Amino acid sequence: MRALCWHGKNDIRYDTVPDPGIEHGRDAIIRMSCCAICGSDLHLFDGFMPGMQSGDIMGHEFMGEVVEVGPDNHKLKVGDRVVVPFTITCGECDQCRRGNYSVCERSNRNKALADQVFGHTTAGLYGYTHLTGGYPGGQAEYVRVPYADTGPVRIPDGLDDEQVLFLGDIFPTGWQAAVQCDIEPTDTVAIWGAGPVGQMAIRSAVLLGAKQVIAIDHLPDRLSMARAGGAITIDFEEESVVDRLNELTQGKGPEKCIDAVGLEAHVTRSVDSIYDRAKQAVMAESDRPHVLREMIYVCRPAGTISVPGVYGGLVDKIPFGALMNKGLTLRTGQTHVNRWTDDLLRRIEDGQIDPSFVITHRATLQDGPQMYRTFRAKEDGCVKVVMRP
Ligand SMILES: [Zn+2]
Ligand SMILES: [Zn+2]
Repeated sequence: MRALCWHGKNDIRYDTVPDPGIEHGRDAIIRMSCCAICGSDLHLFDGFMPGMQSGDIMGHEFMGEVVEVGPDNHKLKVGDRVVVPFTITCGECDQCRRGNYSVCERSNRNKALADQVFGHTTAGLYGYTHLTGGYPGGQAEYVRVPYADTGPVRIPDGLDDEQVLFLGDIFPTGWQAAVQCDIEPTDTVAIWGAGPVGQMAIRSAVLLGAKQVIAIDHLPDRLSMARAGGAITIDFEEESVVDRLNELTQGKGPEKCIDAVGLEAHVTRSVDSIYDRAKQAVMAESDRPHVLREMIYVCRPAGTISVPGVYGGLVDKIPFGALMNKGLTLRTGQTHVNRWTDDLLRRIEDGQIDPSFVITHRATLQDGPQMYRTFRAKEDGCVKVVMRP
């Protein structure tokens, strides 16, 4: 089959690789019908995420048709149309039973390595680093889905691929980020980063009834998409984020702040950004937490900071004194995808939201290497790329 494979920094290739097969009784094999490039794929493309090996199949946002089912899988049937959550979950461990799917205790095949790096293992993820199990990803014609009797979400007829594809990642990710803010009708929610996850967080915060939603970015296409979703926008190249947020909240600061940027924060002219960039260049720091610092500083006392953005390792110069003295709540996490998918599928069916609004580029898998470059450069108004085989 053909697949998009990682061969090093800035090197994604459209390769021929062996077809996957059933390895365990609960597996299924999916023929991919539609997949996407996620912002966190760029951390692999840019070489910021450790634990990749040459030839790894990329992609963790995908859906398709079931073409083969293992003998112990009593849920799926050949011909079912499914969206596959990016978090691989066993459905049986203590964390899965609590709904904490992204920290499943059993699905990471490299548990010992993750235990060392994070203190405890986290779930296996598709098409991501060997720290998360090194599972082949979904930017491929066929995908092996482990524990396929728990994760995959069956899609009813009448919904097209593009409406439901993002149930596998960015929609529940933006939704969880907003839910973790415990939004109240009097709240201002400020969202750093109006990329795909930021866009989903904006619409989620609006659906959850925030008084005011503010999006911070510098790309015109993303800012106009954010305004179309109901947000007030701040262009950080044009004005001071902190001053403008204070102005929009009568000096109090936003009650709820969402970091939809993560470890590769844009280098601004601020002193701390330049410091991070310099330390990262000599590998003295793995992440650039500019957004995190700014949020802690501007967030209203007793407010909440929610972090769906991906961080990889150690961050430096976090104003912990401000975090503690202001009594801020910090909530984080990879997405517990299956915790949200029933509700979100129903909201799509009800017409409350159509997540396909975020798609700007449609291509084939073969165009993938170029699409990675287009997406990273944000050329040609690129916000989100979907690909078909
Ligand atoms: Zn993702
Ligand atoms: Zn589990």
